[in-house]
Amino acid sequence: MTNRPDIERGDDRGSLGDERGVWQISARTHVGLKRSANQDRFLLDREGESILCAVADGMGGPAGGETASRIALERFAAVVRAEELPDAAAAGHVLERGVATAHDEIRAVADSDPDLRGMGTTLVGLAVDRGELGAFVNVGDSRLYRMRRGELSRLSQDHSVVADLVRQGEITPEEAAIHPRRNVLTMALGVDHRLSPQSERFTVEPGDTYLLSSDGLHGMISDRDIARILTADWTVEARCDSLVEAALDAGGSDNVTVVLLQRSSMPVGRSGFPGGGAGEGAWLLLPLALLALLVVLRIVSTDGRFGDEQPDPYPVDSMMLEFEREVGRGIDTIPDSLRGFPFDRNRLLLDSSLQPTPGDIVDDPELADSLGSPGNRRSTRQP
Ligand code: MG
Repeated sequence: MTNRPDIERGDDRGSLGDERGVWQISARTHVGLKRSANQDRFLLDREGESILCAVADGMGGPAGGETASRIALERFAAVVRAEELPDAAAAGHVLERGVATAHDEIRAVADSDPDLRGMGTTLVGLAVDRGELGAFVNVGDSRLYRMRRGELSRLSQDHSVVADLVRQGEITPEEAAIHPRRNVLTMALGVDHRLSPQSERFTVEPGDTYLLSSDGLHGMISDRDIARILTADWTVEARCDSLVEAALDAGGSDNVTVVLLQRSSMPVGRSGFPGGGAGEGAWLLLPLALLALLVVLRIVSTDGRFGDEQPDPYPVDSMMLEFEREVGRGIDTIPDSLRGFPFDRNRLLLDSSLQPTPGDIVDDPELADSLGSPGNRRSTRQP
């Protein structure tokens, strides 16, 4: 497992104090291998029995991107905390208010400082409480995934040109993953655009794992690779490290940020954790601990990977999703109705005065070639 000193870490584990389970939480952010600054940011907040976490991916110049993601998470957290999240059922509206407040604040700051004009950020935020309900909000192309009973699903919808094309049946998800316009967003906080966040509630089940990520992760490795790592029998911290490492191994061309939450799959005795009602049943802990120790010893004695040897980061026996097709039809697949969106993941405000730089939006030289001449490129951005 990686132990890079330049990864910003946040770990949190423990009990929410009820008998249905515990949450283990971990987060990582890394500047990547190609960028000089990290404009990603994560929020990991536990207050009482409520957990709030989020990922924001800023854009709009070196100063703008960092400022936008910082303001977004600060304002988002302040609004949500002020409400004390009575329960996740009510949290959806609170999360939306947090996003709207952050949006207004970013725009106000940008309007007052020419150096920050045009900055924006994605934001995906998740709230869970002691009950069975969670809620999330999403703007942009950071993502929320859920791993449940070995199956990975994406709960958030990208606000991007290629996501629209997939929804319209113009291209497949596999084509979207390598599409030359995959970095172009249709919605972001702080950008002068009507904000219509995705906001949904969902039911939490024991054993669920939730992953929030910036596109520096899911733009670099496939959902299948994400699923392989999430199903590995490692701690949440180790899986966070492995996700970041996999994104760096794949090229690390963007800042990469992950927040991972896992709800215990086993019901937890009320006396087993702080705040869980001490006293009754505590005598069960010692035999259970001894049993756990025996199980661990048995694993160590039979599984060679627990020595100095590194565990396989991609356990083949946990392959999940079929994600094999790699066919790209290129930029000509974008209908005229979708051309000329105003902002790009890496070059905010793609207006007519800004010359596109193929290297900024296309990592693959072959795909860059498929864009054609500069004249053709320019024509694709006209509204
Ligand atoms: Mg990014």
